[in-house]
Amino acid sequence: MIQVSLLQQAYTWFDERRFVEMLMRLSAINSGTHDTVGINTKVDLYQEWLRSLGFETRLFPSTEYGNNLAAVGEGEGKVALALFGHVDTVYPVGSVSQHPPRIEKDQLYGLGTSDMHGGNLLLTEALRFLVERNLKPYGKVLVLLNNDEEWASMHSRPWMQRLLLEHAIHVGLEFESQEEWIRGINVTVGRRSQSAYHLTVRGKEGHAGLGEGISAVDALLFKLLRLRELVAQYEGMSINITGLFGGGDGMHYTTRAGDAGATVSFRATSPQEYFKIGKLLNRIVANEEPEEQGSEITITPFNHTPPPYLPTPQISHLAELGRSVAEELGLPFTTGLKGSTSDANAFADVGIPVLASLGPMGGGDHNATEEHILLGDPLREKFAFVVGLIDRVCALWKM
Ligand SMILES: [Zn+2]
Repeated sequence: MIQVSLLQQAYTWFDERRFVEMLMRLSAINSGTHDTVGINTKVDLYQEWLRSLGFETRLFPSTEYGNNLAAVGEGEGKVALALFGHVDTVYPVGSVSQHPPRIEKDQLYGLGTSDMHGGNLLLTEALRFLVERNLKPYGKVLVLLNNDEEWASMHSRPWMQRLLLEHAIHVGLEFESQEEWIRGINVTVGRRSQSAYHLTVRGKEGHAGLGEGISAVDALLFKLLRLRELVAQYEGMSINITGLFGGGDGMHYTTRAGDAGATVSFRATSPQEYFKIGKLLNRIVANEEPEEQGSEITITPFNHTPPPYLPTPQISHLAELGRSVAEELGLPFTTGLKGSTSDANAFADVGIPVLASLGPMGGGDHNATEEHILLGDPLREKFAFVVGLIDRVCALWKM
């Protein structure tokens, strides 16, 4: 009975106007990865909000990426929780002036609303609800907001994982948004990995009309097509090719391209697939087609997440606790695996069970025109769910 009333209290307490005001403020600040000025401005805001809740905060600065934020709050329970999100977005400096935050019907559009300041705010507001009512069911809460998640957290991951172990965290809760088309509550119990490489091919310039030289572009295309075929053999794997270049600006079309390159990013669903990626890349080093003869490829690792993770018994237990909260709210509950990666992979990597996609319902991630979250009932329900989940995990988690 007490649980039901806590959920009702949370549902009623949630202040959407305040939430919208805070999210509009955050979305009006550019904070693409490496935009240290914007990132630090946002981190300052979160730091101020968390300090006002009595949390002790600490910055982990980097000249290249800006500040990361860790905040610790003590409670009366036994369970050590880590709630986490990221402050960087994928948009270049200056994007906000072209895409200022706006509300259309029951949706708030803006850069980083869904990925993932909406989730960061749901997290801080849930803590505010608990702290203001003097309900602190946790032994400890560690809040982690990092600044390079969109670049696979290569710089912040060692810091995050060190803190998780130092604070002996039992459970991680990740606040990326939930896909808006799924009704009710949908939590993520497994995520794919991401591994990116720069490929550069060296050919030889020569007169195209006379058939001289070795085209680096031709060689690269054959290699990329072969790579796509190799990847297609694995059900859980995919490849995304970006940053193609070759032959300069296209004005010297009578000259064979001396250089070409691309960035390839792999996704894997199982650890077996993840560890196959290096082998697949080795297969394209050899020059198998006549068009590749004489060219030379260099493969440079760019960034990568830890391996993918799938639901462990502990993650399934967390999901079951979530199901019981959703049932009390009268909401449908489902679990799913997500094709994208997040710092949840870094938790799984150090053996900490993690439940993901606890942020608002959202969509249009990585698209400056379409990124948004849903306001109204879905947001209020998700807030109540998060409060209930924190409470229930603290009450029932077996250590
Ligand atoms: Zn994200």
